Amino acid sequence: MSNMSKLNGDHIKLAIQKDGRLTEDTRNLLRTVGLHFESYKQRLFSICRNFPMDILYVRDDDIAEYVAEGIVDLGIVGRNLVVESEKPVEEILPLNYGHCSLKVAVPAESGITSIEQLSGCNVATSYPVTTSRFFAERDIDVNVITISGSVEITPALGVATAIVDLVSTGSSLRLNDLVAIDNVLDSQSTIIGNRTSLADKQKAIIIERLLTRFRGVMAASEYKYVMMNVPSASLEYISTIMPGLKSPTVLPTADADWMAVHTAIREDVFWDAIEELKKLGAQGILVSSIEKMFV
Ligand code: ATP
Ligand code: ZN
Repeated sequence: MSNMSKLNGDHIKLAIQKDGRLTEDTRNLLRTVGLHFESYKQRLFSICRNFPMDILYVRDDDIAEYVAEGIVDLGIVGRNLVVESEKPVEEILPLNYGHCSLKVAVPAESGITSIEQLSGCNVATSYPVTTSRFFAERDIDVNVITISGSVEITPALGVATAIVDLVSTGSSLRLNDLVAIDNVLDSQSTIIGNRTSLADKQKAIIIERLLTRFRGVMAASEYKYVMMNVPSASLEYISTIMPGLKSPTVLPTADADWMAVHTAIREDVFWDAIEELKKLGAQGILVSSIEKMFV
């Protein structure tokens, strides 16, 4: 990385995956928090035009190490790789994309239903550290075989009795006639930080500015903004009925029997909330997504 010498010493550095499953969502998130930067495939790094930060594009397997070593201050990577690396980095903020789980799976016709039955067997995985720890913690003695890709074909090849592999929809398991019998780890894309950088006065200020933006986007994605007309008589019930409601704004309308209510509703209670509101006589319900939210 000889080009690194061009990077600005006053800037913080963020490593993201160069080309893979997390790349597009990560770039989109960086743009949503207002960062302007060039990005095209051949680049090793970008300099943000409107924020004191440089972005490095690397293989996801290297991100935890780069952060731990202080080559970069921050990284965005799947938690699965942070755990596997065993590097001392700070897990700062989960980002709610790149969801997947590391699961133990066996051939459907094997008849194996519990991990205890794997005692003495070969288990193939790209996550040997996490896998070995998982079985050791349960006092199950297995032989962990490290494979870098296509782990799911190893049972058919007779190489392993079971696998430990990343699953998101499960379609790859089904395609290979495998079934999951246990869950090792749940993962999502996560911002991680170098501990020295986080303790550094100057860097911490820039990092906190960035994290505030990320938190604003994360909070917004959990809420919908709802505008509606509510019969004045049922207004007092509204806040007692819905736990997801956040500081509603109540405005009079031209008709004294009706009030206009604007509020944010948590996504997970959204549908229940809308049904309740309709029962209370709410009309003209308009729902929109929130781009950013600071509370
Ligand atoms: P690189 O070239 O950067 O090493 P890779 O091929 O190792 O990339 P990807 O397949 O792009 O990695 O996966 C990146 C991350 O996406 C994984 O570490 C994991 O956190 C997440 N992920 C989400 N769903 C899945 C899935 N079904 N299989 C694998 N990874 C997934
Ligand atoms: Zn990788």
